[in-house]
Amino acid sequence: MTASSTNELLLAAFGSDICISDPEEIVRWSSDSWGLCAGMAAAVMRPRNVQEVSEIVRFCSAQGIAIVPQGGNTGLVGGAIPDPSGKQVILSLSRMDNVRELDPINYTITVDAGCILAHIQETAAEVNRLFPLSFGAEGCCQIGGVLSTNAGGNSVLRYGNTRDLVLGIEVVLADGTIWNGLRKLRKDNTGYDLKHLFIGAEGTLGIITAAVLKLFPKPRSNATAIVALSDLEAAPRLLALTRDITTDALSAFELIPRRLVELAAQHTDRANCVPPVEADWFVLIELTNSDMNEALTERLQTVLEAAHDSAHIIDASIAANLSQRDQMWSLRDEVAETQIKNGAVIYFDVSVPVSSVPAFIQQATAKLKELDPQIDINAFGHVGDGNIHFNLLQTHDQPADLFLIRKNEYERIVYNVVYELGGSFSAEHGIGSEKMDALINFKSPIELSLMKAVRAAISGTTFNPGKLIPSE
Ligand SMILES: Cc1cc2nc3c(=O)[nH]c(=O)nc-3n(C[C@H](O)[C@H](O)[C@H](O)COP(=O)(O)OP(=O)(O)OC[C@H]3O[C@@H](n4cnc5c(N)ncnc54)[C@H](O)[C@@H]3O)c2cc1C
Repeated sequence: MTASSTNELLLAAFGSDICISDPEEIVRWSSDSWGLCAGMAAAVMRPRNVQEVSEIVRFCSAQGIAIVPQGGNTGLVGGAIPDPSGKQVILSLSRMDNVRELDPINYTITVDAGCILAHIQETAAEVNRLFPLSFGAEGCCQIGGVLSTNAGGNSVLRYGNTRDLVLGIEVVLADGTIWNGLRKLRKDNTGYDLKHLFIGAEGTLGIITAAVLKLFPKPRSNATAIVALSDLEAAPRLLALTRDITTDALSAFELIPRRLVELAAQHTDRANCVPPVEADWFVLIELTNSDMNEALTERLQTVLEAAHDSAHIIDASIAANLSQRDQMWSLRDEVAETQIKNGAVIYFDVSVPVSSVPAFIQQATAKLKELDPQIDINAFGHVGDGNIHFNLLQTHDQPADLFLIRKNEYERIVYNVVYELGGSFSAEHGIGSEKMDALINFKSPIELSLMKAVRAAISGTTFNPGKLIPSE
């Protein structure tokens, strides 16, 4: 079928309220906001409820039209972007944004897949509950996309990944069947836990249309600090010390390099919250719980004194009020925008055992410098989870295209170090289309063949062909 006949067929079947068929508008939906990748869809379908999703899927399956599910389109590996053929159809969940049920007694919230993450956090907060998932894209990403990428973020250390925060889901399968798995149960041992197949599946197995999410008591206080480390090796040691002293109060432990502080000073006013000392590495530490603020701040001070005595840290700034805390977090969360102001970026999102983070950064840096002594590295992120965003920045004397063309060379070096240390080449962002080569090179053949078997059994190639699983 040609792109224009697919477009006409869908428009005739579903009407212009659901089907966007104007090529100029379709272009807007067919690339990501970071300009990392672009394709072209035949049409964009915008259903209003699960029944309409089911009808669209049934129709497309029968016609052999491939569907690309799209949430907030903030994913960083091209998972929600159609291929360039102009034959695939984007199915956007953005109109399905209702909170279906808020149950503060059961500590659950049931939401449509198109609900924006920040809206879910705010709705939970209104009844004194916390939905803990939080990261830079929370104002735009949708919970269906968040589940499909099994997103992590800033509080995984305390509350786990998305996978740990989901009790039930509703999914439209490849033949249009609606599976209502919206259970609010914390215990259910009645066979395979099927929801976990769809979480992290990057839209290859079905369309997630709703989810039941776990809520938690809302912390009443927090204590936040940015700490200057004596060296990089101190990071995992300080993490262990902080956990020993604060037990369950530690909710975030984020690595901030000197390079990020320099970028922030150059492009924003956010660098003021960093202790004014000569240090190459900093961490943002946050404790949260239901203690009084003073008590929590005292616990943080105890950690910092012990860390100073053990020579892990040189200095620290503790946020004195909410606005200082916000400034510390915006230094961390707005790093993506800050980096882009500097020029082109090659992104790595890797994980290694927490204790191996210093070895990873040092070995990868040394090997990259052998290849390119001028290489500009910004390595930051969720060090408490062993997850580092190890980004390479364009240098001023190097045109963007000459820098980006070396991506494969850089990748080979970084991924080999990750592999040697028993790590993962994609800790949070998934595979999409962008990390397919790494998947083929580093995923074990048995895992790849199990993934293919699961897909063949559940959905064939209806959803997101060319993503997550290599084409035959
Ligand atoms: C500034 C910034 C910060 C970020 N920080 C983090 C971070 O700290 N941790 C982290 O893990 N990630 C982070 N991310 C990436 C993260 O994966 C996405 O932001 C988010 O999880 C994707 O949600 P989305 O709604 O935008 O999904 P999209 O980008 O629209 O889609 C992502 C994938 O899910 C599929 N999909 C979307 N909706 C559905 C659905 N309803 N059913 C089935 N499949 C679907 C798509 O086909 C695609 O494969 C960040 C991104 C940005 C831009």
